[in-house]
Amino acid sequence: MTTPHMTIARTVRGLRIIATPWKRGGLRVGVVPTMGALHEGHLSLVRAARAMCDRVIVTIFVNPKQFDDASDLAAYPRTEDADAALLREAGVDVLYVPDAAEMYPPGFATTISVRGVSEGLCGGARPGHFDGVATVVCKLLMQTLADHAFFGEKDFQQVHVVRRMVTDLNLPVDIVTCPTRREEDGLAMSSRNRRLSADARARARALPQVLQRCAGRITAGEAPAAAMEQARADLLAAGFDAVDYLELRAASDLAPLTQSPTAPARLLAAAWLDSVRLIDGVDVAPAG
Ligand code: AMP
Repeated sequence: MTTPHMTIARTVRGLRIIATPWKRGGLRVGVVPTMGALHEGHLSLVRAARAMCDRVIVTIFVNPKQFDDASDLAAYPRTEDADAALLREAGVDVLYVPDAAEMYPPGFATTISVRGVSEGLCGGARPGHFDGVATVVCKLLMQTLADHAFFGEKDFQQVHVVRRMVTDLNLPVDIVTCPTRREEDGLAMSSRNRRLSADARARARALPQVLQRCAGRITAGEAPAAAMEQARADLLAAGFDAVDYLELRAASDLAPLTQSPTAPARLLAAAWLDSVRLIDGVDVAPAG
């Protein structure tokens, strides 16, 4: 069996030398932006990109601008060699791994700030986070010249921020979202799961379970506030240290919901377990 060829590019110039002829040749280019420490969730995005595009670029960049906490940035797992092996096997054409100096050269002065959908939830808990996300995603889209960009629903608010930015700035790219991939016990796959101790990992499964149960109660007609208060208590009882947020939002535009939903909604949460912050979200079907 031959190993598929994958080029590793570390500069915008190197990347453009490869991508520009693709674009001139009319090939459809897909990009999957990631921060590395890849798992099956990332690979599901790669497969979706392979199915829709002629060429696939995966980016790995641990973006300092989207971390509000220096110790979280320092502790973020970095596994480039293993990631490259997985991506080569998955049939990726280019792995783009810029460093911080390439992405933000001296004098860099532009920030993209998306109002509305970036407020509250992770935007409330992590000040500046979505400015960092929007700025780097815009740059990655421009650097790769992608026609399609693939994002996971696991980061539900991020998808809304990216879609809003692409619409507002008329970026010529189609945003594709993919469902959350989960471990066997239901925990959403995440690079941060690697930082959980065995004991914390066992407790982490409560997050999707509690969210599913709460979503079921809301769909069954229980008042959202009461169901969510119970869910917060359940998370703490299951061993979570703190709940950053647990909220019901409209799936279409993230508008906060206080009444039983009459259109598709999403229950979103972020909670801390042994200094690791986990996020998850589940669909909530309209009541009745
Ligand atoms: P990250 O490397 O965590 O920044 O994630 C890169 C992309 O992979 C984002 O679009 C995430 O939403 C997506 N992603 C992360 N975890 C999952 C998962 N469990 N299932 C599907 N997509 C995911």
